[in-house]
Amino acid sequence: MSTTPLPDKTPEVLKIVQRCEALFEDLHFNAVREWKAAAPGRKAIGYMPVYVPREIIHAAGMLPVGILGGGDQIEVIQGDAYYQSYICRIPRSTLELGLTGRLDCLDGMLFPSICDVIRNLSGVWQILFPEKYTRYVDVPQNYQDDVGGLFYAQEMQHLRDDLGRLRGTPITDAELNASIAVYNANAAALRDLYAYRAAKPWQAPTSEVYLLQRAGMVLPVEEHTRLVREYLAAAEAFQRPRRDNARVVLTGSFCEQPPLGLIKSIEMAGCYVVDDDFVLVGRWLQDDVPSDGDPLVELSKAFLHRSASTAAKYDDKREEKGMFLLKQVQKRGAEGVVFAAASFCDPALLERPMLQDVLAKHGVPYTAFKFAENTGQMAPIREQAGTFADSIKLWSAA
Ligand code: SF4
Repeated sequence: MSTTPLPDKTPEVLKIVQRCEALFEDLHFNAVREWKAAAPGRKAIGYMPVYVPREIIHAAGMLPVGILGGGDQIEVIQGDAYYQSYICRIPRSTLELGLTGRLDCLDGMLFPSICDVIRNLSGVWQILFPEKYTRYVDVPQNYQDDVGGLFYAQEMQHLRDDLGRLRGTPITDAELNASIAVYNANAAALRDLYAYRAAKPWQAPTSEVYLLQRAGMVLPVEEHTRLVREYLAAAEAFQRPRRDNARVVLTGSFCEQPPLGLIKSIEMAGCYVVDDDFVLVGRWLQDDVPSDGDPLVELSKAFLHRSASTAAKYDDKREEKGMFLLKQVQKRGAEGVVFAAASFCDPALLERPMLQDVLAKHGVPYTAFKFAENTGQMAPIREQAGTFADSIKLWSAA
């Protein structure tokens, strides 16, 4: 992977961002290929949004690799043949990645339960790549430990057994608990990153925070945790101008991701994004998972009782709908919400009116638009976000 060398005097934070951007742009996943080549027998397992228990992959000694579509750098040709035009783009660009050999470095692929599109993609994947391990990872829709919790622990046990077979020896509880501790450290670093950005959004632009998280899709988790910590130190050491921007929470982008240019456009339009639901996998579990108990039971409890809430997760209590978003707004001191969902994303777009109702009841202003991962026209979105930011500033000044 080659990057243009930066001058020696370039601030450390920008060097870190450049490295992350190179990883983000590399749709041949050379970082994964290099990791595998470094020791014989290494395996990598891909996974799609929103969340899979990566601890199980890590405990098997394998590299979890986040596949978040092809973004705006890939022309979808073959992938379009498998899907109608009136669905989101991520399944088509992911197929394109697979059919063009870019995902050959993966030994398996996990499709978490999000929506019909991803579920159907898992079937298409099994047919197209029969030599690879493929699994649809189901999640509970009941939040009692002895019902949904038991079901989810059994789902994870299937995955654990499969990956144990793939490597040739079963995955032990000790290995799982060690991996839980490693992912706890990563999640803690990400929590610190999000808290830092909310406190000083001018020091940690969202485009950088986003790239940093995307790096975590291909790097070993231990290396990614170090990188996040290094970024935090380097960001604090490099002073940047503070602007009178509107503080917003961006929501609806939990699966297909907007192009990087769109994130930059929203920031350039005068918004400080102080919370979001990009790349949720590392922030799905909201606090530490105990690493000294029954690992699958603890992972299950964390999912049931202490995980993020998005449209991709079943809400069993109607009155809870919108509360997670409202708490994000309150906790981060946001002045408004930007709904940014992928075109044809049924989960996000069906939930949106319910969330907007809750915000309206609490006097939180919002604006909404749709995107595709290859959206090229940024001007209308920049104008809309700019108008929204201006209106917030006018209202708050009133
Ligand atoms: S973007 Fe939305 S509709 Fe498309 S696969 Fe993801 S969750 Fe499903």
